[in-house]
Amino acid sequence: MRTVAIIGAGMAGLTAASRLHARGFGVTLFDKSRGFGGRMATRRAGDFQFDHGAQYFTARGAEFFRQVTAWQEKGLVAEWGPGAYVGRPGMTAPARAMAEGFTCITGAEVSDLERGPKGWRVEDENGLIAAPGNGSYDALISAIPAPQAIALARSAGIDMPELAKARYAPCIALMLAFEPETRGGEDWLRPDDSAIAWIARNASKPGRPNNAQTWVVHARPDWSRLHLNDDPQALIEPLLAHFRALTGIHAEPLYAAAHRWRYALVEESVGQPCLFDRSLMFGACGDWCLGPRVEAAFDSGAAMADALVDAFTTVNA
Ligand SMILES: Cc1cc2nc3c(=O)[nH]c(=O)nc-3n(C[C@H](O)[C@H](O)[C@H](O)COP(=O)(O)OP(=O)(O)OC[C@H]3O[C@@H](n4cnc5c(N)ncnc54)[C@H](O)[C@@H]3O)c2cc1C
Repeated sequence: MRTVAIIGAGMAGLTAASRLHARGFGVTLFDKSRGFGGRMATRRAGDFQFDHGAQYFTARGAEFFRQVTAWQEKGLVAEWGPGAYVGRPGMTAPARAMAEGFTCITGAEVSDLERGPKGWRVEDENGLIAAPGNGSYDALISAIPAPQAIALARSAGIDMPELAKARYAPCIALMLAFEPETRGGEDWLRPDDSAIAWIARNASKPGRPNNAQTWVVHARPDWSRLHLNDDPQALIEPLLAHFRALTGIHAEPLYAAAHRWRYALVEESVGQPCLFDRSLMFGACGDWCLGPRVEAAFDSGAAMADALVDAFTTVNA
């Protein structure tokens, strides 16, 4: 059995993993987080939950549309508005379902890669990560944001200059919970504002708990860039002031927190579905290949899996 290690359990890594698993590969997936989905994220804080990363996704291509329909039939995805899909009961729901059937090592921040005589080794700061077959993987896929992939590739002595073409905008996300009876605001808003780009009433998404009026606010890229290195907690008050002015909600929140996404939305993509060095059996995929969307990550992960299957098929022919 051919084996592959995949770093990153966001939509790109999970798509590659599930496809390769379905094609008979032995797959081991590593992620630094405790859960799955990457930027398709759900933050749980006590009884409150927030989709603080991707807000919804669309399905423009036939293949992703088929996948979304399959998730919908299983109750993992629902429409929030026409053609605007969300995970149910949280954004991570489809990702969790995708991470079944193969080995997943979570809480593992990969810092070094090495291609030894037996195959690929995956290491963290303590050395070899305990995982079945680690040290002898036939192929390695990086499915993390491009700026982080550069460092990981370099740890293995690999230079992929195309990775440096990708550019990301950061995003500061504010999460707010109010008493359930708090009124005001639309379900979503793209305001013309100096600080805020997007406001969503998280509680209006299908299948969310109705124990609170929860909101997610995304700061504009320029505002986020300006405040990227500030303590996120210090950004709650300034963003809350803009939120109040835009929604008319002046109640005191029961919960307020801010999260910094350093690599949030792709501003410049590489323009290729994935990168692959056949001689090393090393590939890289992610939204940075095709654009700032969940579907782009899916397409990139799918292309990565197909490239790998093709490479092994040719080797065996
Ligand atoms: C604030 C925000 C709003 C967005 N809004 C939308 C939207 O409305 N619609 C839409 O379609 N898209 C939206 N997006 C973009 C969308 O979320 C992404 O395009 C998509 O989820 C990217 O998937 P990915 O698999 O390429 O990367 P990611 O989801 O980033 O997955 C990468 C994974 O790699 C892991 N990782 C990173 N480094 C390491 C390491 N060294 N070792 C181990 N694991 C590692 C991370 O933990 C993560 O799980 C938004 C994103 C953000 C942040």
